Amino acid sequence: MAKIVIVGAGIGGIPMAFEMKELARKEDEVVVIADTPTFHFVPSNPWVGVNWRKPDDIKVPLAPVFKKKKITFIQQKVARFHPEHNHVALEDGSTVDYDYLIIATGPKLAFDEIQGLGPHGYTESVCHVDHAGPAGERWQQFVDDPGPIIIGAVQGASCFGPAYEYMFIVETDLRKRQIRDKVKITYVTSEPYIGHLGLDGVGDTKGMLESELRNKHIDWICNAKVDKVENGTMYVTEVDDNGQVKKQHELPFKHSMMLPAFKGVDALLGIEKLTNPRGFVLVDDYQRNPTF
Ligand SMILES: Cc1cc2nc3c(=O)[nH]c(=O)nc-3n(C[C@H](O)[C@H](O)[C@H](O)COP(=O)(O)OP(=O)(O)OC[C@H]3O[C@@H](n4cnc5c(N)ncnc54)[C@H](O)[C@@H]3O)c2cc1C
Repeated sequence: MAKIVIVGAGIGGIPMAFEMKELARKEDEVVVIADTPTFHFVPSNPWVGVNWRKPDDIKVPLAPVFKKKKITFIQQKVARFHPEHNHVALEDGSTVDYDYLIIATGPKLAFDEIQGLGPHGYTESVCHVDHAGPAGERWQQFVDDPGPIIIGAVQGASCFGPAYEYMFIVETDLRKRQIRDKVKITYVTSEPYIGHLGLDGVGDTKGMLESELRNKHIDWICNAKVDKVENGTMYVTEVDDNGQVKKQHELPFKHSMMLPAFKGVDALLGIEKLTNPRGFVLVDDYQRNPTF
């Protein structure tokens, strides 16, 4: 009999648990540990951010789903991974042993790397439903008294699609409300060109997205480094292809959503041979950590 532990119950952890249950032998135990009672469908967060959906519309309680599948569910935060001992330490002080471990904890959102960034600062986030819900409430206040908008992704971000997605959703919402003419939208991104998406483009995304931005009268600044954010002002350094300063911008805004850089979650930080200095798990071609 083997005990297979999966940490995290997001888009990664849940399908992993279901497939593992099907693949494992009858006598094996599949355990999911996650720090939330619900799954939430991350790609729907931009809709929550403009109130096209409510947070509860995109959440599913985890316990009944796992019970039905005969998967053990532990609703706890993993405080620390101990791969050398084959166990994880939970926040309540207990430990869970395993024969096999699957880490699906997703990213830590590194808002703290830029002063004033994120929901505890002056910009909104659609990376988590707990951010998108309050953002939706503030969106309602914004449309009652609109002003300039900045949307984009900061230096070190690795996920750009949601910034474009949210921007087009916001633009559509403003047009539906017939207040688009009252709002200047600027897309600020660390991408070297529009449509790069962190992937040097996908098909003709450079041409297509540039064209859509022009059609919708959205300005953009690429190769941008956000230096800091203050209440109503974003300080941005635009660099050239050699990384030299091209222009400094002080951009006023009344609403902003900026995607942050990612790190590994705290429980993974600084574990030699398991993670790199940013806490990302080191893997081989088969997504296995070579040491553990
Ligand atoms: C707005 C937006 C739109 C997107 N759209 C798309 C799209 O259209 N297509 C696409 O392919 N991708 C899209 N993505 C990316 C995709 O959503 C993510 O890659 C995916 O959600 C990541 O899933 P995950 O399970 O790895 O991490 P997460 O969804 O972050 O899940 C991590 C889980 O681990 C738990 N956890 C974390 N730390 C601990 C701990 N210490 N102890 C216990 N539990 C812990 C969390 O509570 C959570 O349950 C989008 C992302 C965003 C933000």
